[in-house]
Amino acid sequence: MTTPFSYVRPRSVADVISSLEAEGATIHAGGTDLLGCLRDGVYAVDTVVSLGDVEGLAGVRELKDGGLAVGAMTTITDLAGHATVAGRYPGLAQAAAAVASPQLRHQGTVGGNLCQKPRCWYYRGDFPCLRKGGYKCFAVNGENQHHAILGGAQCFIVHPSDLAPALMALDAAAIIDGPAGTRRVAVADLHVAPAEDPTRETVLEPGEVITEVRIPAPPAGLYNSYRKIRTRRSWDFAIAGCALALTLDGDTVRQARVVLAAAAPVPWRSTAAEDVLRGNPLDDAHIRDAAETAMADAVPMTHNAYKVPLFKGMLIEELAKARPR
Ligand SMILES: Cc1cc2nc3c(=O)[nH]c(=O)nc-3n(C[C@H](O)[C@H](O)[C@H](O)COP(=O)(O)OP(=O)(O)OC[C@H]3O[C@@H](n4cnc5c(N)ncnc54)[C@H](O)[C@@H]3O)c2cc1C
Repeated sequence: MTTPFSYVRPRSVADVISSLEAEGATIHAGGTDLLGCLRDGVYAVDTVVSLGDVEGLAGVRELKDGGLAVGAMTTITDLAGHATVAGRYPGLAQAAAAVASPQLRHQGTVGGNLCQKPRCWYYRGDFPCLRKGGYKCFAVNGENQHHAILGGAQCFIVHPSDLAPALMALDAAAIIDGPAGTRRVAVADLHVAPAEDPTRETVLEPGEVITEVRIPAPPAGLYNSYRKIRTRRSWDFAIAGCALALTLDGDTVRQARVVLAAAAPVPWRSTAAEDVLRGNPLDDAHIRDAAETAMADAVPMTHNAYKVPLFKGMLIEELAKARPR
């Protein structure tokens, strides 16, 4: 059951930051993740600071350099359906359209999507797991079908966000406001790996709020996509996913970003696969090599070895789709 908390609705980012000074204060955006966590007693808060009345946090705007700024309170529905987003960064629109259900996309926001808590059933359940300050990761000798095959250490969650890998592939950055001013953090550096600290999801410091996400202008020849595989075709979290941002010159890959979803505790950039692709034709041999290389360091757990061929097959299919026709 939810423990009692106070609720405030500041009207400016400055007031959000000062409201967050209260002990046990946390941000409420769309509430689709937060309220479930509070209801299920995953953690407790004393003050809920709503972003709902803060002006200027929702919407997509053009940047002078040809990029886009997406406000943190932009709903996933608005992101998925935004014509400029879909035209310039189709993979981002695909990732947004693949999030949850229509109801959750209407309510859920971009900022909340990046900062959501993991979906591990031990973390969400009544277990004193490491991420909740407990003593061990119960997935190690437990039900680990959906857990990490890459980057696990101490804790073996997979990062639940569909938008984070898509934004990371596009080299996007989060703009963060807080008591010490404004800072810019690449989405690639936003999430904290469990080897560093299994109790933190993001590098956000107390009192900080993401106000927007900036995406650089798309380079000429950009091929951008997002693929999500889930256990059922209706709403669900990914069991495997990949975001591609390839810059193609004919069939030669000039630049490549390959980011895996649901593979690791943080969105997982496969620089090794990128190295295979960069400077080479996007032919069968390089595609297969990239897929193999992306999984070379995989360390499956007792019940999730199926993910290795799943990721390989998905990468082969997705890279083949990127070939110029
Ligand atoms: C049934 C179900 C299915 C789901 N399926 C998917 C899915 O398939 N893919 C997926 O990616 N997600 C999924 N989600 C997760 C998630 O709820 C949504 O993706 C949503 O985008 C979260 O946004 P929100 O605005 O509701 O966040 P909230 O619940 O309001 O906040 C989530 C967390 O982020 C923090 N936060 C929110 N905004 C900010 C900000 N601007 N700055 C700093 N911190 C902030 C909050 O304090 C909280 O800790 C699912 C959720 C549910 C309940």
